[in-house]
Amino acid sequence: ERSDGRERLVSGAKVVAQALKTQDVNYMFGIVGIPVTEIALAAQEVGIRYIGMRNEQAACYAASAVGYLTGRPGVCLVVSGPGLIHALGGMANANMNCWPLIVIGGSSERSQETMGAFQEFPQVEACRLYSKFSARPSSIEAIPSIIEKAVRSSIYGRPGACYVDIPADFVNLQVNVNAIRYMECCMPPPVSMAESSAVCMAASVIRNAKQPLLVIGKGAAYARAEESIRKLVEQCKLPFLPTPMGKGVIPDNHPNCVGAARSRALQFADVIVLFGARLNWILHFGLPPRYQPDVKFIQVDICAEELGNNVRPAVTLLGDINAVTKQLLEQFDKTPWQYPPESKWWKILREKMKSNEALSKELAFKKSLPMNYYTVFYHIQEQLPRDCFVVSEGANTMDIGRTVLQNYLPRHRLDAGTFGTMGVGLGFAIASALVAKDRNPGQQVICVEGDSAFGFSGMEVETICRYNLPIILLVVNNNGIYQGFDTDTWKEMAPPMCLLPHSHYEHVMIAFGGKGYFVQTPEELQKSLRQSLADTTKPSLINIMIEPQATRKAQDFHWLTRSNM
Ligand code: ADP
Ligand code: MG
Repeated sequence: ERSDGRERLVSGAKVVAQALKTQDVNYMFGIVGIPVTEIALAAQEVGIRYIGMRNEQAACYAASAVGYLTGRPGVCLVVSGPGLIHALGGMANANMNCWPLIVIGGSSERSQETMGAFQEFPQVEACRLYSKFSARPSSIEAIPSIIEKAVRSSIYGRPGACYVDIPADFVNLQVNVNAIRYMECCMPPPVSMAESSAVCMAASVIRNAKQPLLVIGKGAAYARAEESIRKLVEQCKLPFLPTPMGKGVIPDNHPNCVGAARSRALQFADVIVLFGARLNWILHFGLPPRYQPDVKFIQVDICAEELGNNVRPAVTLLGDINAVTKQLLEQFDKTPWQYPPESKWWKILREKMKSNEALSKELAFKKSLPMNYYTVFYHIQEQLPRDCFVVSEGANTMDIGRTVLQNYLPRHRLDAGTFGTMGVGLGFAIASALVAKDRNPGQQVICVEGDSAFGFSGMEVETICRYNLPIILLVVNNNGIYQGFDTDTWKEMAPPMCLLPHSHYEHVMIAFGGKGYFVQTPEELQKSLRQSLADTTKPSLINIMIEPQATRKAQDFHWLTRSNM
């Protein structure tokens, strides 16, 4: 009680904000409106960084990327009904990627429920398909414990999305401060280790392998297992292959990285150890013809239900990747072993890498205009700062870009991911830039977008300019989806994959005060990129015109082109 005898009151909005802060949640992305504006204001007041976005989908992508990058969930704050519906895309994407995320949705007043209230929708039920946990606190007093549970659920076990519903009448309702008990910050996720007999068996299977391969997935990146996995690779001299977002856990230029011989490595390995990578479409389900029919898989994963999906593994190691890798290292410390560096397997892999790299270079050096993808990425790679974040999406843009653009640091590549979601790029770039700003000022974010992918969340350029984030957007522009057409063909028949030819996307950036460049030659690309990297006071967008019919080089497995990740 205060000295004047009146009770001290606190609003539901402030309780939500304080409960999040107490759980060490530091970033909130959203769009304000009835009934959540007060929650955003209260969040800012308690020191949570609030970032106003232009579409809930992008806000949700950004919040989920913060979770992946920091290991602590970001919040996506949305209004009722349509606001929440727009965020479902981001929730689904986060859940598929196994990234922690908290979505907080305002909802209509409880007293008007089922009456056709403004933006009324069964939000808790709607979120269930897209989350690990979805609930509405029964009272303002219950908000802190529900938020603690949501945060804890989002990071314990297999990470994922959680939803908390806050009815409009909670937001401004005042309750006595003494009635609110904030839960202590939840403990860090418990670390689980694999059964020791399974660890022994795994070590023995690896020792007896003729053509071994380690596959490093984004689960290993999330688990911060870079040090132990690198030790295993170097101590046992094993070849490794990163998945798209596993890139950088060990640098792409490490001599044991066989990324440039990806198909070959998967196809002929006899023992494959999976560190946080599911045998889904990205890894061709672990099945022939992409693999040997009798390949032995050793699966390392924190999620028991994942083990044995699509193939029957030789050994399953249920536990935290970092802890399990250390268990494996102990085995190899006890009885040291190295895979012979002069083996036939290494020779096969090295030869394939060499010929693939030569082929990419040959395409990159083609002088014809408009440029092809390889020329564009080759020139980007030349200037890419080693420590930058690389965000990428688009069909060919992402697939080809990944083979040329190198990652040297873990958790520094973000792309369309498990769900193959287009539209994630700008939200991911915004999240990366904010995390960089707080942890490592001066670090830059390069966001490589196809022209179609850019369109999904294009208005977030305004957000980038409003917060003046150090992001360089590269729009690889082929006038369309997969492939575009020239102006004449477009006028004649407007094929479905066509976008307006010769669009000046750089003007979107100029409109909000950033720098824009329109480039058609390698020289123009080099110059604009150099200028963009040098001037960190402003974001920029480089619109790169390429041959509308450009594609990737011929693939060994052309019948599965979209799975060539
Ligand atoms: P990629 O797309 O790179 O192949 P996936 O998203 O398919 O990776 O797989 C990531 C896997 O990592 C998931 O199955 C998830 O359960 C697992 N995972 C996440 N965090 C951990 C952890 N700390 N320890 C072990 N496994 C983890
Ligand atoms: Mg395109």
